[in-house]
Amino acid sequence: MSIRLLVVEDDPEIRSVLHSSLAAEGFDVRTAVSVSEAAAILHHALPDVVVLDLGLPDGDGLDLVRQIRKAHALPVLVVSARHQEAEKIKLLDAGADDYLTKPFSVGELLARIRVALRHRGTALDPAATVHELDGLKVDLRSRLVTVAGEPVHLTPTEFKLLARLVRSAGRVVTHRQLLADVWGAEYTDHTHYLRLYMGQLRAKIEADPAEPRHLLTETGVGYRLAVA
Ligand code: CA
Repeated sequence: MSIRLLVVEDDPEIRSVLHSSLAAEGFDVRTAVSVSEAAAILHHALPDVVVLDLGLPDGDGLDLVRQIRKAHALPVLVVSARHQEAEKIKLLDAGADDYLTKPFSVGELLARIRVALRHRGTALDPAATVHELDGLKVDLRSRLVTVAGEPVHLTPTEFKLLARLVRSAGRVVTHRQLLADVWGAEYTDHTHYLRLYMGQLRAKIEADPAEPRHLLTETGVGYRLAVA
């Protein structure tokens, strides 16, 4: 059975491109042009993934994320314009799984859909214990980190931070989430800790820490461990 996608997008051109390119990838695609139409579809036939535009004619995508989260664990990917940084954090806090900034490629969207499905229904995927990409290998069980086969020594905090990103590999993790999970709930405003430790981690695992390949910055929002 093919994976069912619900694309909520009021722009007819983007909607039609998404519909045809995602259908060509074998997804069973339904579309909605508004919050109310999406809510009606969700009520009758639950999709496996929702791809949601933020600005809709009869409301805000944020309202729909909240509605969905009250009842369902299915992944929600938000597509938003570049200027909506504060919105992105609100969306992730409201339970959206990830976001894409317009304009994005279909390849990028497909990669995010795959990541979202892998993490489906779980805030943290306990099965994700090994991460491998481009010579970087992180094994959470043995706590072993290697770059091109060479062991890398990390401090306990550096390891905790990297491990947190591995458990959400491919998805953005907000500053608040990282600070709460690595340092504790009382540290969620200490973003300077993150900058410091992310700098240390990049120095140890990136070939060029100034042009990170693995530990990606999501400006104003958080960090993402690259999966491709
Ligand atoms: Ca729109």
